[in-house]
Amino acid sequence: MYDVIIIGAGIVGCSTAYYLSQYDLKVAVLEACNDVSMGTTRANSAIIHAGYDPEPGTLMARHNVKGALMIRELCRRLDVPYKQCGALVVGFDDKDMETIQTLYERGLVNGVEFLKILNREETHDLEPQLSADIKGALLAPTSAIVSPWELALALMEVAVENGVELKLNNKVEAISKSDEVFTVRTSEGEYHGRYVVNAAGIYSDAIHEMIGQKEFTITKTKGEYYLLDKSEGRRVSHTIFQCPSKVGKGVLVSPTVHGNLIVGPNAEDSDNTDTTYEGLQFVRKTAVRSVPFISFGDNIRNFAGIRAKNDRGDFIVEESHSVPGFYNIAGIMSPGLSSAPSLALEAVDWLKGKMELHKKAEYKETRKKVRFNQLSAEEKNELIKKDPRYGRIICRCETVTEGEIVEAIHGVIPAVSIDAVKRRCNAGMGRCQGGFCGGKVAEILVRERGISPLDVLQNQRGTNILVRELKVK
Ligand SMILES: Cc1cc2nc3c(=O)[nH]c(=O)nc-3n(C[C@H](O)[C@H](O)[C@H](O)COP(=O)(O)OP(=O)(O)OC[C@H]3O[C@@H](n4cnc5c(N)ncnc54)[C@H](O)[C@@H]3O)c2cc1C
Repeated sequence: MYDVIIIGAGIVGCSTAYYLSQYDLKVAVLEACNDVSMGTTRANSAIIHAGYDPEPGTLMARHNVKGALMIRELCRRLDVPYKQCGALVVGFDDKDMETIQTLYERGLVNGVEFLKILNREETHDLEPQLSADIKGALLAPTSAIVSPWELALALMEVAVENGVELKLNNKVEAISKSDEVFTVRTSEGEYHGRYVVNAAGIYSDAIHEMIGQKEFTITKTKGEYYLLDKSEGRRVSHTIFQCPSKVGKGVLVSPTVHGNLIVGPNAEDSDNTDTTYEGLQFVRKTAVRSVPFISFGDNIRNFAGIRAKNDRGDFIVEESHSVPGFYNIAGIMSPGLSSAPSLALEAVDWLKGKMELHKKAEYKETRKKVRFNQLSAEEKNELIKKDPRYGRIICRCETVTEGEIVEAIHGVIPAVSIDAVKRRCNAGMGRCQGGFCGGKVAEILVRERGISPLDVLQNQRGTNILVRELKVK
């Protein structure tokens, strides 16, 4: 019997598991997919927003500002790529400049530091590649970029090392409660727990309705992106936003922590992650208004993520009204990534109101990773002497070694697919997108996991890259 069952291993579930793992509790995380961070957390703009956008007084405003500060510290502790590159919200006319004034004032009320309104010259001094049509901008120096999936993984790895049980491939199908105990039935079995935290992203309404009355509705809104090669990665040095509209923060152009350029998203009601010609054309046309000379010929990948837009217009962070002991962290749309650790602490506080929580005598809070391409020549030689597999480069675009891939496959949360290896050590993230190293990564997965080549997955269950043997000896 678990004290707490968390449903969903996105950034919200992983953050909740991380903080709960510091207490003397038996915690399980049930995740439908074969890895953490397989929902919205792996496909978004990856911005840690400064906090000037949400309306003052909302949960979004409070958790964004607090969460952004927590993420800066967490990324340091957990060795996760993070860069405080700052953001500019650019304006093209007087109406936009009024919006920028409103954002500036909101930011002050929300407690965002160092905000400044810039005129045209000041804006171009900071970002010479911006359109000549720009009238001015809001500068938010505390805005940052991060690797969202690495942050989620790092949080869950530490949680698992502290005793949290991560149950992957466990899709929750039914929930019931009797005698103060929840029974959560999944595709794999049954789990019993005293409390449940619902962090199921775009399905959090469906999960709540498995046991409670309808209290909120999630609408799924897709956002599509271009990810450009590193040759475009220095096109801008800040995240460039246009003024927000009713449908969201609009199309941005931003460097990524991995050195690429990200451009997007649009906003279309949709529950699939297919990219479309129309969606990408819209992104492209809108982006060049602010950054005209983006070389879209250097695009290396398109992808889409799905927002969990809810009908309350704010985060839902509360105990269910109809099911005591069931806590929703639901409808976590943007700035959900920036807010996640703060939302998780809210769940911990709620639990403290329900039961006595005692910190463990010892628990882990930090994590360290080997990134071969960031080591000095001496450190590289030292590592290769200890383990020659660090001397064999598998991914040439990103300089990722066999040693790092083997480490990913045998890590705290083992990588079971080619994409899971990529999320842990960047193999296949570069210009060729795995064209050269994909086959080698597959071979290493076969060898290290002792599986048949026919069982190598690109990503999810059912994405086998080989379907049958051509020549049988
Ligand atoms: C286009 C786009 C851009 C964004 N940009 C930003 C940004 O720049 N900055 C920012 O702060 N926020 C941004 N966001 C928002 C941010 O990405 C989300 O708020 C955040 O990732 C939500 O995390 P989550 O853990 O709630 O959901 P998810 O990451 O979706 O995790 C939910 C998990 O629950 C699992 N699950 C679902 N159903 C079940 C079930 N039945 N059984 C078991 N498991 C289940 C899923 O598989 C998934 O792993 C953006 C969102 C989108 C879509």
